[in-house]
Amino acid sequence: MKKVALVFALAVLLPSLVLAWLAVRSLRDQQFLLERQQSLLCQRVTDALAQNISDHLAQWQQEFGAQVENLAGEKDAREVAAQFDNQIRSASPLVDVGFSVTLSGLTTCTITCPLPNAGPEAQRFLVDNGSFLGNEESAEVYWNFNNSKTALQSKVRGNDYSSLAQNTANNTQPQQQSGQKLDSSVPSSNNGDSWGLNNIFSKAKARSVNPQSQNYQPQAKQAADPQDANLSKVIPAEAEFRQLIGDGTDGMLGRYLQNKLKLMFWHRLDSDPNLIFGAQLNLNRLVNGLRDVVLPDSVLRDEICVAVLDDNARPVVISRTNFQAAWKRPFVATEIGEALPHWEIAAYLVNPARLTQLAHTTTLTLSLLIATLVLAIGIGGWLIVTDLNRQLALARQKTDFVSNVSHELKTPLTSIRMFSELLAEQRVADPAKQTSYLQIITAETARLTRLINNVLDFSRMERGEKKYNFRDADLINIVRETVETYRPHLENCGFELGFTSSVGALPIHADTDAIAQVIVNLISNAEKYSDGEKKILIEASRRDGPLPCAEVKILDHGPGVPRGSEEKIFEKFYRAHDCLSSGIQGSGLGLTLARQIARAHGGDVAYEPREGRGSCFALRLPLRNDPTPS
Ligand code: ADP
Repeated sequence: MKKVALVFALAVLLPSLVLAWLAVRSLRDQQFLLERQQSLLCQRVTDALAQNISDHLAQWQQEFGAQVENLAGEKDAREVAAQFDNQIRSASPLVDVGFSVTLSGLTTCTITCPLPNAGPEAQRFLVDNGSFLGNEESAEVYWNFNNSKTALQSKVRGNDYSSLAQNTANNTQPQQQSGQKLDSSVPSSNNGDSWGLNNIFSKAKARSVNPQSQNYQPQAKQAADPQDANLSKVIPAEAEFRQLIGDGTDGMLGRYLQNKLKLMFWHRLDSDPNLIFGAQLNLNRLVNGLRDVVLPDSVLRDEICVAVLDDNARPVVISRTNFQAAWKRPFVATEIGEALPHWEIAAYLVNPARLTQLAHTTTLTLSLLIATLVLAIGIGGWLIVTDLNRQLALARQKTDFVSNVSHELKTPLTSIRMFSELLAEQRVADPAKQTSYLQIITAETARLTRLINNVLDFSRMERGEKKYNFRDADLINIVRETVETYRPHLENCGFELGFTSSVGALPIHADTDAIAQVIVNLISNAEKYSDGEKKILIEASRRDGPLPCAEVKILDHGPGVPRGSEEKIFEKFYRAHDCLSSGIQGSGLGLTLARQIARAHGGDVAYEPREGRGSCFALRLPLRNDPTPS
């Protein structure tokens, strides 16, 4: 038994406890995992929207190029260049100021439009950009190119410095041939910081937002470059206008002037490459044009709000009206890029508590599941051990049963053999003694028959083959006949046997032989277990109550059933009085059979302790006229 418990503990209980512990440990990361999942999802949304905005701007830039070609195609290009501000403003609502620059020589740029006397707008534009567009001084710009063959690769994004180096190296030759001048930020192959990277790094600006999702970065990554996430990946470079446009056909460039973003498109005329047309865009109108672009997926529309944040983290476009949030602390954010430098597309959780709630619910559900599983394993284990215990006890009882039955068969057989030999050898002359011996032989034979009947009936019942011959009968008659059959034997053994009945008849519907067997078993037990006062009383009565029934009580003055065994004595093979210690023989089947027979009749056999000393076994059977349970 101990071995079984040990195997069970090692093979089932311990592994399940270890698994449960591991599962509980993994539960602690639930919130982190959920937030990580959500942040990846949202990050994908903001990345896509940022790309969308860049694509939109690229498309407007192309449209601008087409408009320029259109205007120039209609008239003389130089004439168009002089009138370009007016013409482009009436052609495109996005444009604030249109400009044109004529290139000559290697470094000269002449602004042909707007002229300083064209109005206050033009004047302000020329004050801000005149020197830069005239190629007189370099400026800090963010820009991109189409068809660029210039030495300076404009995109200095993220950590992709190797591509910068590669591109620059590849393009050094044509740039030098064209004689363009490099400023301090332009990589040159013969100084220590050959690519001017120190200069570029120093211009990396801190992001104005601090996305919460950074908190959920894997530990290792956080440790690797802790500052990287807080630095803008869009870095400006110092460049002159000629150098910036190189041999490109069109482009977009952004400048921060008095902390305000100014965005420009430019286009080189196909028919006259020395003519550059450009436009400074109206940012408000441009932003308005982006409203339809800035919408999250329909799946996430109710969960997140996306906003376009300017370089000061102020929302300029919001996907949900009246939404309020700590704009500098979005859930995730993506920089839009050089098209709108330091502008970001940010996502905010509409209900930030929902994620925590969801994590709590998941944790709770999983905890309950784990607890239930552990409990189920525990209960299952306990049931297995209990059942194993029961089976072992039963196996022990069966072994005892075999030895008990053998013993009980042997005792009457010895008496029968001894007395029959005495009589056969005519060694007993006294007729009274002869009669007494014959009575003993008869009684022992009856005992043998009873025992064998019990064993046979028990095995029939176990196999479900026991058949009853039900008929109408009177219980008092059955009891009286059985008592009278048994009386000579009991009186011979010195017993006083009394039978009383409080009613004249107790009509029942029963198998009379089976009921007689029950009475015999109970009287036989009363005889066996009466150690002191040899007095047995049998009482028949009608028991009234909600369900009236016939009742027969067999009362003795023996030691009674030991406490705690009152119900167990009805189990098969169970013996409260052990053969060895009590010297009383038995098979442990008498009461089992008695109860099974009574129950098959819709009644029962019950033990009732008596006051003082002795036992009382009561057989109860339904009366014939009463509704009988099947
Ligand atoms: P057995 O053959 O051992 O008598 P039973 O099924 O008839 O088997 O009885 C089961 C146990 O109940 C007995 O071993 C005994 O301990 C207890 N028992 C039965 N009848 C009596 C009684 N009249 N007085 C005391 N104990 C009894």
